[in-house]
Amino acid sequence: MKILLTGGTGYIGSHTAVELIQAGFEVEILDNLANSKIAVLDKIAKITGVKPKFYEVDLLDASATDKVLRDGRFDAVIHLAGLKAVGESVEKPLIYYKNNVCGTINLLESMKRNSVNKMIFSSSATVYGDKDGIKLTEDMETGIGITNPYGETKYVIEKILMDVANSNNDFEVTILRYFNPIGAHSSGLIGEDPNGIPNNLMPIIMKVATGEIPKLMIYGDDYNTPDGTGMRDYIHVVDLAKGHVKAVEKLKPGVEVYNLGTGEATSVKEIVKAFEDVAGKELPNEVVERRAGDLAKIYADCSKAERELGWSTELNIKDAMRDTINYLRHYEG
Ligand code: NAD
Ligand code: UDP
Repeated sequence: MKILLTGGTGYIGSHTAVELIQAGFEVEILDNLANSKIAVLDKIAKITGVKPKFYEVDLLDASATDKVLRDGRFDAVIHLAGLKAVGESVEKPLIYYKNNVCGTINLLESMKRNSVNKMIFSSSATVYGDKDGIKLTEDMETGIGITNPYGETKYVIEKILMDVANSNNDFEVTILRYFNPIGAHSSGLIGEDPNGIPNNLMPIIMKVATGEIPKLMIYGDDYNTPDGTGMRDYIHVVDLAKGHVKAVEKLKPGVEVYNLGTGEATSVKEIVKAFEDVAGKELPNEVVERRAGDLAKIYADCSKAERELGWSTELNIKDAMRDTINYLRHYEG
């Protein structure tokens, strides 16, 4: 089976490429390198022995996208390309809607023209909006209380995919709602390497560990959680990547939605402690005001993915910390 992986040089995409190749899929990557580096391709080759064919193409360039789909004769598309910085999306909403929504529409039009009917889409727990402290299941209402344009783009794209599936009985789409991916490949060769100043917890912890940021600001310790800090469902990126392999193997006509998380919630203070335990050194931190729009506790019910995809996580927070620290040791910039 031949797969086009959009966003394949990015954090989740590179790990997904590795798992797909190791599972025997033929993988080609499309990315505009807006938030990733071309050197990732050599790292994928080092891990798997296969260097995927690469198209440096922006999904906003409809004719270049179409050429990739025309020439590639793909069986399925795994669509991860998108901008993902929540804070930046509030500052630059039009760029986010244009890139994520219009990019996806170009891709879908091109798939239609070239008779590619199978897609996996990377959505996010953010589509559940302001549901706080309850285990989230796929059948819960989405779209209410989303606090930023990034999250809205995921919600809108989900709707578009559902409408496309309604209009075309041959269309097979699986929407994967990721919770909080962390960690890196155990080789230390690939991991999260965002351009600019990150706003997610783990990339910030990585920069504090390397001294690029003086200390971690813990956003609030007065939440209704055991230690007062926010809780999230942190999933090792390799487990997440393996979820894509299962999803593509189980594609069927219509729309399916799966949460990919662990089912466990971990607090910011627990993450800091786990990092310190594995690193063997203290991570400078300070509790500050809550971050606007943050919820106390977000975590997944993953029983649908377990039941229907035969997927469950194999790695834990400690594994993620070990692999992150190993990745930092290998990091070449
Ligand atoms: P990433 O930024 O590392 O990877 C995304 C890739 O898409 C980058 O390599 C970027 O260059 C590419 N890209 C962006 N716009 C493009 C365009 N118009 N044309 C071609 N390429 C383009 O991010 P990631 O963490 O690997 O996330 C992958 C996907 O998963 C994204 O869609 C993201 O929204 C989604 N997601 C991520 C998280 C997370 O916490 N990392 C959580 C939920 C969902
Ligand atoms: N967080 C924090 N300091 C930071 C970044 C994040 O305390 O510098 C907290 C944040 O309040 C939340 C958790 O870490 O409770 C995860 O935040 P992240 O932005 O990584 O994911 P999201 O909130 O989008 O799920």
